[in-house]
Amino acid sequence: MQPEQVEALREAAGEGVECDGLEAERGDDGYRFAVPGDERTGLNAEAFEAAARDAAAYVTNWHFWTREAPTHDARRAFLRWLEAADEHAVPDRYEALADGTARGWGQLRITVTLGDDGCRRYDLRHEADAGTPVADLDAFHDPRDARELVTFDDRERYRPLKTAPTLRTGWAFPDLSAADLVETVGVVYPATVVNWHREREGDLDVSHWRETAERQTGIYDIVDELDAEAVDRIAASCCVDSQCLKRREWDFDADHELDADRGDGEFPCREPCSLVVAAARKWTKLEEEEPHTYEFELTPSEKEQLEAIVDAVADGRVDEIREADVYEGANRYRARYLREKLFDDEGRLGGVPTEE
Ligand code: SF4
Repeated sequence: MQPEQVEALREAAGEGVECDGLEAERGDDGYRFAVPGDERTGLNAEAFEAAARDAAAYVTNWHFWTREAPTHDARRAFLRWLEAADEHAVPDRYEALADGTARGWGQLRITVTLGDDGCRRYDLRHEADAGTPVADLDAFHDPRDARELVTFDDRERYRPLKTAPTLRTGWAFPDLSAADLVETVGVVYPATVVNWHREREGDLDVSHWRETAERQTGIYDIVDELDAEAVDRIAASCCVDSQCLKRREWDFDADHELDADRGDGEFPCREPCSLVVAAARKWTKLEEEEPHTYEFELTPSEKEQLEAIVDAVADGRVDEIREADVYEGANRYRARYLREKLFDDEGRLGGVPTEE
């Protein structure tokens, strides 16, 4: 603990201090200094300093939260949540922080450790790299470097949805300050901290599908034509945990909940995102079509194979199916064989025209 930290606390005692079990104030008969199990009153400056030294963890903890941590409500709440500050007393917390306290946030793993004099340091990386030495990862220090990391996945494919579970691996920000940690998390998962905090405060302004759709203009103003069943299919297609790590809080409207799974993510989704609205435009047009009856001949295995192909594409498993695995319906050779057999030269299933 630095002498300046004690001095700062003594000065602050004039206004009264209360932080995580530490209380300090200046009265007519001297200072009062209290931590759980130890209260001292009528102290002069020297005695105050001695009391502070005996409870150094409380003092450095106060110094961090009042002089170093961001003061913005959401950021501060997030940092306190990371180390479970509202659940554990300072000595227990310091003991845990000495080894590192870790929490998950989407696919991020954030580990808080104790630096000098109560200062916190933060390690941020992909959860899959939790046990990897920093030396084996690409290390970064500037929050702005995260922009590059979140743009493409491990296979260099563009990530249009920042909260999709496709965050690339192999990197770490091993030694961030509190402010830089929150900024970096904001680059990886924009606005998630603010919305998480709003939700905790009972203040999340949810915009349901109907309101969001009715607000759309231009080429998207048709999406309000979709009915609740179609919107349910959209939520099941785009918003479940396998596709997006936000927890969906919006529904069709305030009186009509959707059946699709909301997800278990730590941070909420307060309104249909632009990706979902853009996809909904396509579905609006598709849903306008009338069904037709087509006649094809398929063997039972061919029918099952078509089902397997749709499943594999929908679940993103196509790349996992090996060429040699001809027992998989979505195996490339099996799919090519089916195409050879069932499609005509114009790519029509069974040679049947789509439009009469
Ligand atoms: S609308 Fe769905 S896909 Fe888009 S951010 Fe919210 S939960 Fe994710």
